[in-house]
Amino acid sequence: MKVCKFGGTSLASAEQIRKVGEIIAADPERKIVVVSAPGKRDKNDTKVTDLLIQLGTQFLANGSAEDELQAVIERYRDIAKGLELSDKIVDDITADLQERLATEVKSSEQFMDLMKASGEDNNAKLVAFYLQSKGIEAQYVNPQDAGLLVSDEPGNAQVLPQAYDNLYELRNRDGVVIFPGFFGYSPEGNLVTFPRGGSDITGSILAAGIDADLYENFTDVDSVYVANPNVVDNPKEIKELTYREMRELSYAGFSVFHDEALIPAFRKGIPVCVKNTNNPSAPGTMIIAKREYKSSPVIGIASDGGFCTIYVRKYLMNREIGFGRHLLEIIEDEGISYEHIPSGIDDTSVILKEDQLDDEKELRILDRIKNELHVDDVHIERGLAMVMIVGEGMKDTIGISAGATAALARAKVNIDMINQGSSEVSMVFGIHEEQADDAVRELYNEFFTE
Ligand code: ASP
Repeated sequence: MKVCKFGGTSLASAEQIRKVGEIIAADPERKIVVVSAPGKRDKNDTKVTDLLIQLGTQFLANGSAEDELQAVIERYRDIAKGLELSDKIVDDITADLQERLATEVKSSEQFMDLMKASGEDNNAKLVAFYLQSKGIEAQYVNPQDAGLLVSDEPGNAQVLPQAYDNLYELRNRDGVVIFPGFFGYSPEGNLVTFPRGGSDITGSILAAGIDADLYENFTDVDSVYVANPNVVDNPKEIKELTYREMRELSYAGFSVFHDEALIPAFRKGIPVCVKNTNNPSAPGTMIIAKREYKSSPVIGIASDGGFCTIYVRKYLMNREIGFGRHLLEIIEDEGISYEHIPSGIDDTSVILKEDQLDDEKELRILDRIKNELHVDDVHIERGLAMVMIVGEGMKDTIGISAGATAALARAKVNIDMINQGSSEVSMVFGIHEEQADDAVRELYNEFFTE
């Protein structure tokens, strides 16, 4: 039994939904289908989720948002017309949106979740309706009926452990199950969404819940590439990579998945295949527990900007018991999470995502570090990128870091920080953001061209 997830571009138009129908019909093992909201039809288009955010925001501000509402309805009408479906489905979607707008909720966050989730919810109904019109036995299933229980954190839901047992029952449903991605329900019955890109999370949870043989994730590229195709021309395709490698690459900016999305499938050891809706016969990329890595110790290069570092120096820091704890406590008190802490004898840097640090927090943190830890120097540097080379085979291969640093030297990139530390799977270089693309290109030349 397989779980398939189709992303926004795979469902953006009638033409795309026809391809999805063919893919489902081609394999009876494709039992559970998770759908996103309709995505962009071309570069300049707007995703339905973003239209819904505009609708919700405008409605909260003015108590009405007729133009924004019509923009959403038009997207579905266009799709329904292209699929030659009756007007009933568009009428149902219109009524659903009106009902959501009229719902009394506790907070604006809850209201926004209700609006955002309608993108996938109504699309799942539309896809089920279309498949039925083609004679395929298909049923829409609501996450509440299926018991997809999540924590009550609007926009940031976490699956609750008891959800998996509930979801196992989906195996026994008749025909193909069409399941909306991106949201679940709290035990109190509130609708709560996952972070953006969260339909991947739903797919992964369902794959773990029904104990699937395979989780197929359909998108708009033939495979995962070793580097970002917008930075490197025609990068090589990755045929196979491990769960850990995928997790590290997604963390550092690989946009294939939300970085936590695959964890439920990984924990259960369910293989994941990334495939292309526009070219379903291409083999795609398999993500599995173990791979043969002798011939390719480095599997990919990723980079992500938006980091900053809090640099702290104090003479004899290495001998001061509790210094690290106290420093991290100051950061914890501001509700900030950190990414890396490379350290020397008398200095240490705490690296974090810079959007967590507004001017007020920055001042408070610097003051507390100065006054409570009596340091010789503390300052913040912004505009950093983390460039990462990833591969399970790196730890057993001599010369990988030599090759990487030589490549960065050729690209005239100054390295602010290197962290190989405890991760056996990746090596991270902190560099200035504006040099990140040059760094990725030269690392690609080093590890992937003859
Ligand atoms: N539609 C949601 C978003 O755009 C979730 C998803 O597509 O995965 O973030």
